[in-house]
Amino acid sequence: MASGSAIQIPSRLPLLLTHEGVLLPGSTMRSSVDSPRNMQLVRSRLLKGTSLKSTIIGVIPNTSDPASDCDELPSLHRIGTAALAVQVVGSNWPKPHYTLLITGLCRFQILQLLKEKPYPVAEVEQLDRLEQFTNQTKSEEELGELSEQFYKYAVQLVEMLDMSVPAVAKLRRLLDNLPREALPDVLTSIIRTSNQEKLQILDAVSLEERFKKTIPLLVRQIEGLKLLQKTRKRKQDDDKRVVAIRPIRRINHVPGTAEDEEEDEDHDDIVMLEKKIKTSSMPEQALKVCVKEIKRLKKMPQSMPEYALTRNYLELMVELPWNKSTKDRLDIRAARILLDNDHYAMEKLKKRVLEYLAVRQLKNNLKGPILCFVGPPGVGKTSVGRSVAKTLGREFHRIALGGVCDQSDIRGHRRTYVGSMPGRIINGLKTVGVNNPVFLLDEVDKLGKSLQGDPAAALLEVLDPEQNHSFTDHYLNVAFDLSQVLFIATANTTSTIPPALLDRMEVIQVPGYTQEEKIEIAHRHLIPKQLEQHGLTPQQIQIPQVTTLDIITRYTREAGVRSLDRKFGAICRAVAVKVAEGHHKETKPDRSEVTEEDCREHVAEDAKTESISDAPDLALPPEMPILIDFHALKDILGPPMYEMEELRVFNLKGKYFADRKGFNTSHRVLKDIDTPQKDHELVSERLNQPGVAIGLAWTPLGGEIMFVEASQMDGEGQLTLTGQLGDVMKESAHLAISWLRSNAKKYQLTNASGSFDLLDNTDIHLHFPAGAVTKDGPSAGVTIVTCLASLFSGRLVRSDVAMTGEITLRGLVLPVGGIKDKVLAAHRAGLKRIIIPQRNEKDLEEIAMNVRQDLNFVTASCLDEVLNAAFDGGFSVKTGLEHLNSKL
Ligand code: ADP
Repeated sequence: MASGSAIQIPSRLPLLLTHEGVLLPGSTMRSSVDSPRNMQLVRSRLLKGTSLKSTIIGVIPNTSDPASDCDELPSLHRIGTAALAVQVVGSNWPKPHYTLLITGLCRFQILQLLKEKPYPVAEVEQLDRLEQFTNQTKSEEELGELSEQFYKYAVQLVEMLDMSVPAVAKLRRLLDNLPREALPDVLTSIIRTSNQEKLQILDAVSLEERFKKTIPLLVRQIEGLKLLQKTRKRKQDDDKRVVAIRPIRRINHVPGTAEDEEEDEDHDDIVMLEKKIKTSSMPEQALKVCVKEIKRLKKMPQSMPEYALTRNYLELMVELPWNKSTKDRLDIRAARILLDNDHYAMEKLKKRVLEYLAVRQLKNNLKGPILCFVGPPGVGKTSVGRSVAKTLGREFHRIALGGVCDQSDIRGHRRTYVGSMPGRIINGLKTVGVNNPVFLLDEVDKLGKSLQGDPAAALLEVLDPEQNHSFTDHYLNVAFDLSQVLFIATANTTSTIPPALLDRMEVIQVPGYTQEEKIEIAHRHLIPKQLEQHGLTPQQIQIPQVTTLDIITRYTREAGVRSLDRKFGAICRAVAVKVAEGHHKETKPDRSEVTEEDCREHVAEDAKTESISDAPDLALPPEMPILIDFHALKDILGPPMYEMEELRVFNLKGKYFADRKGFNTSHRVLKDIDTPQKDHELVSERLNQPGVAIGLAWTPLGGEIMFVEASQMDGEGQLTLTGQLGDVMKESAHLAISWLRSNAKKYQLTNASGSFDLLDNTDIHLHFPAGAVTKDGPSAGVTIVTCLASLFSGRLVRSDVAMTGEITLRGLVLPVGGIKDKVLAAHRAGLKRIIIPQRNEKDLEEIAMNVRQDLNFVTASCLDEVLNAAFDGGFSVKTGLEHLNSKL
């Protein structure tokens, strides 16, 4: 509705009595309606009416107490505002009510109340905005001064507000556009006024009176605003001062001021930190960053989350060993003695490590390749790494990389992340506190890859001698010199190490141990260590070597010695119980109840009190030392796990028992073991029909013997392969069949229907137990050929022979890897003859003499030689001459 234009309101108006504020002409307000009278008005007039006229209502401020609102109509205020209901919104929650948006049009006065129920309706007289008023330009002139004064105040007030707020700018424009007589009503409804004051303005029907009454309200508002602005300004100044004072106070700390203790403590810490930064020997670039950060820290309020982050960062920077290192003790002779003392066997590894150390001794700043020990678990890779650190007099730190699949594990997170941390390299340096430790990167072959980047790629930078003098961790964001760190990596296999990483390392294979080596390691290292850990002495427990052999062969199946070590742990625990019980029973034979006190007391007693009791009473303490024999083993470790396969022990059982107590040297043990009469009985059982051969396989857990089985049946020349084979192994099977088919006449090989074409109406099935384990690699080639040759010739493969080697289509035998582990596996299984590729002969040197002596090695360069060695009496070849002779 255009302001200034004349309005004509109906002479009869329904009345809305409001408690919430006073509606003035020209302003809009939202009013909640919930009394029955008003609700009725809304329903029958506003919701049902269709014309514009029906939306005009008379709004009367209800000055009576809303609590005493009752059926009876209260006395009505004489003057009200005719309003236009712009919007009606109904709701049932929390109770039925309407919300009206109403805009004031003009003043009216009630002439006569026409009806009271259901809602009041009155005959009204319009008081302003009538045509005669709007045309009355004279009034402006008469009121000239008053209206000008009012206008000025109004402008002053609006300009004190923030003009950038769109509503304020609009109001400013309104001041100029609205007719002056409308201004008092509009401004009164905007400024802070009480309902009572608004009511007075409403009642001021004459314009002059309205101006006069509004001016003081404007002035009051202006004053109020002025005061507010003043106090705000002062507060801002104060804030600035506080910020400016704080850092000064932090540096020139005056003790005894009434400050919060905690804050003081913190302040002291920061001063300390600053001092540490200044006195630390970090490189210039790092120092610069630290100084900048500490400056920021000082300005930061402690409540800011960044405060803690920055402080942690600075603390790490101070703690890092930028220039701190240990002095190398490089005495090769001492190193050799130490390595020999700590580790039995592993000659090749020790030799290479000593070479490496010797070169370091000669040239201090060695940028050589990183050593990587590759071998099955439990063969002492980690422990050699530890010994290297010991020989050099360096700190040792192990970083387990198995399963790491996020590059920030190596390189750290950027400090912008919540919970960011440095990577493992920097963390390791912080832990050891020197910049030249030995870092053992354990299980590099088990690094993962994920969306968070490739940790192997991050490791490249760490391990590259050309780059690692300025390794930048994301968290640190400054370079750290890693060139003094000696990195040693360990892995179970090289096949899963990323090639770029492998390229930076020198791989040293650490093969599994022979049984003899295991016995030696057990008695020199493992048993003494376990005894010490369990508080036992050799006077209390004795484990003869024959028992160790029992454990090795019947309770463990591993290339290393880790589970052997655990078994000794179990034995020691069991014996510890016996020893403790023995104490009690011996000293308190007549008491049946044991108190904890007693146990403690007697465990601490001298070993002398453990003297063996002669009385054969079972209740008496066990005889010392407790001898661990096979029965004791069974009691402690349960029934043997590998009875079937471990033929050697199985066959020599009786012999051992007769001789058990007398074993002293491992040599004797082995001599006795190695003269079995029926060593291969169990293997023979599996080889008692044609079409079975024993191969040798290598796994990351060491060597294994592997049976290959073949059978033929009527069919269409299909080859079926089972046992979860990889592609390379499948190819080997196809190669073997092709070679045999092309040489079938030469070897007189025929299928079941007597044809030299072996696949003629015949299907072949090859199986590799155990079916649940995935197998791959080319080294089974010779075994498959032998197995099939046996099948088609109907002859049995020698029961004591195992073989390994890759084959070609032309029948050559190519070298393969893992010879030592494979030979040891064959030896463990009691096999006697081992066929290996000729070019692998050099690998036999690694095998201990006593194992070599037990075995008969056949080296083969072609499949003829393999077959000749695999069958008793050789595998006859039908020569061309014979053929010719027969023709003649
Ligand atoms: P890996 O790192 O190869 O998995 P560890 O270095 O952890 O194996 O060795 C396991 C345990 O076997 C260690 O207690 C270690 O001392 C012991 N051990 C392994 N090989 C030898 C050895 N040749 N001489 C002495 N102890 C050994």
